Amino acid sequence: MSSKVVTRFAPSPTGFLHIGGARTALFCWLYARHHGGEFQLRIEDTDKERSTDVAKAAILDGLSWLGLMPDGDVVYQSEQQAHHVDVAQQLLDKGHAYYCYCSKEELAEMREKARAEKRPMRYDGTWRDRDPSEAPEGVAPVVRFRAPQEGSTTINDLVQGSVTMENDQLDDMILLRADGTPTYMLSVVVDDHDMGVTHIVRGDDHLNNAFRQYHLFTSMGWEVPEYAHIPLIHGPDGAKLSKRHGALGVDAYRDMGYLPEALKNYLVRLGWGHGDDEIFSTEQAVEWFDLDGVVKSAARFDFTKLEHINGHYMREAEDSYLTEQVIPFLVAETGVDVSEDYAAMLNQAMPGLKERAKTLVELAKSAKFLVAKRPLELDEKALKLLNSDARTLLARVVTALGGVSEWSVDSLDEALRAFGEAEQLKFGKVAQPLRAALCGQTTSPGIFDVLYVLGREESLARLADQAVQ
Ligand code: GLU
Repeated sequence: MSSKVVTRFAPSPTGFLHIGGARTALFCWLYARHHGGEFQLRIEDTDKERSTDVAKAAILDGLSWLGLMPDGDVVYQSEQQAHHVDVAQQLLDKGHAYYCYCSKEELAEMREKARAEKRPMRYDGTWRDRDPSEAPEGVAPVVRFRAPQEGSTTINDLVQGSVTMENDQLDDMILLRADGTPTYMLSVVVDDHDMGVTHIVRGDDHLNNAFRQYHLFTSMGWEVPEYAHIPLIHGPDGAKLSKRHGALGVDAYRDMGYLPEALKNYLVRLGWGHGDDEIFSTEQAVEWFDLDGVVKSAARFDFTKLEHINGHYMREAEDSYLTEQVIPFLVAETGVDVSEDYAAMLNQAMPGLKERAKTLVELAKSAKFLVAKRPLELDEKALKLLNSDARTLLARVVTALGGVSEWSVDSLDEALRAFGEAEQLKFGKVAQPLRAALCGQTTSPGIFDVLYVLGREESLARLADQAVQ
């Protein structure tokens, strides 16, 4: 490859970063990184109503959470409009574009005719060769592209292979509207050229646009970038991913407690493969990624698999990292201001907690007991478990544990086992009421870890709160 690879992600701001868009961005980013090139971001914000600052910020926020920040400045398409208009003028000057004065009625008639003949509406070229001196008075014209009408166009797509379209399928698309504003089709091509994009990697819903865009590039004498149209993401039922399948925005996955590196790993595997490898680091993905590994058929979103991968990343993660990640979830769950003391406790409990949780939300739920205030509110199962026998047992446990000299996991283990033997109870029969009293629920990390992390004073107080002499 002679020139440096430049890819771009070109989302239209719609309020969130779509999960499919995130995967496109990831593929663009990986391809650029793999080839030592650049990954750029262009926000296609020409639709003034939808393109709010909030919507733009949501895209940047989602990309930064996933670690997919662009190289160089973000390009805002709306800021390039004067230049797009200028290019339309150049096309007019070169004879590759012309003014069209068709009225609304004439266009409606064309549409009607197409409908009657059961074919898609195509502009019939009324003004393609007509002399502009025949232009009606007072009609603001649109500018149309003079598309080739004969022959065919072939795109050697890096994912779809060679795709050919007959040129008579393309009508003369509008480049500038009657109010002088450029259309999406013109803007995309001009921006891709200006940004020096060498590889356009995007959803295959844009494949048809590629043929129109191809001719715009060549009419301007610009090099046509390579195309790679990646299949869209489908839901588990095989239909195009939509709201009814679940969350669409990356922010929602973040709120559901997925780690960004796990979501990223999952998304790379969605439509691209490297043998049977399921779990790999970003560095490995950069090393392995190439467009020839992209699968041609639509990928199905599999929530169970995502959860599985997330669970794996959680178990492998550093305790301190998970503590940092889970604190906002814990605050949301409990309303308690999680101070540094709690963070230290959380960190200590993490080895036991992370084994059981598949998401940060689950992790926060299982860590709730750490920040709970005495006397603890017991959940239904814990309440049921703490019958009067169990409560009197707890009173005896308090006495037994009160005598432990060193509050360590080993000596607590020793003391509780000795207590069980003396009471002729299986270990579980001792551990269960303890867990209920210490955590307010019947699941928790190992009981010695719980005792140890809570500390002597808090543990004995929580047990005493539930004990009956
Ligand atoms: N803005 C378009 C979209 O969000 C993408 C355009 C492109 O990638 O060429 O679908």
